[in-house]
Amino acid sequence: MSQSKNALDKDLMFQKIMPSTSRSIQPDEDNEADTSLHSRIFAHSDEIASAMNGIHVINLMEEVVMQHLDDTITKFNCCRCDQCRSDIIAITLNELPPKYVVGEREHIEELVKQVPTKEILAALVHAVIQVRSHPRH
Ligand SMILES: [Zn+2]
Repeated sequence: MSQSKNALDKDLMFQKIMPSTSRSIQPDEDNEADTSLHSRIFAHSDEIASAMNGIHVINLMEEVVMQHLDDTITKFNCCRCDQCRSDIIAITLNELPPKYVVGEREHIEELVKQVPTKEILAALVHAVIQVRSHPRH
């Protein structure tokens, strides 16, 4: 489609003056623009939605405690019923300052590896010994 500059300018003028005419002149282009914009918005919100699904708020202290819970219970020959396990977790976490992070699972697992465990394991051992001495059953 070859148009002179004058013809193009006339078309643009018509589009500005009469929107209904412009729609009938270039329906394909308008639709294409709408579709691509729509799909871009769609893709963008999907991206956000999936990112939000993957985002967690996690207490790193809790992660470390859970990782070492069973080993410590076994090591100190403590009862491993739900009541005792839950008491040990609660007592330990109450002894420790929470350390919340926000991120995706993989990112958080990397952070968990970097947490110094000495203080956490000490609190965990104290809790296990306490629960072993005074189980609530
Ligand atoms: Zn028990």
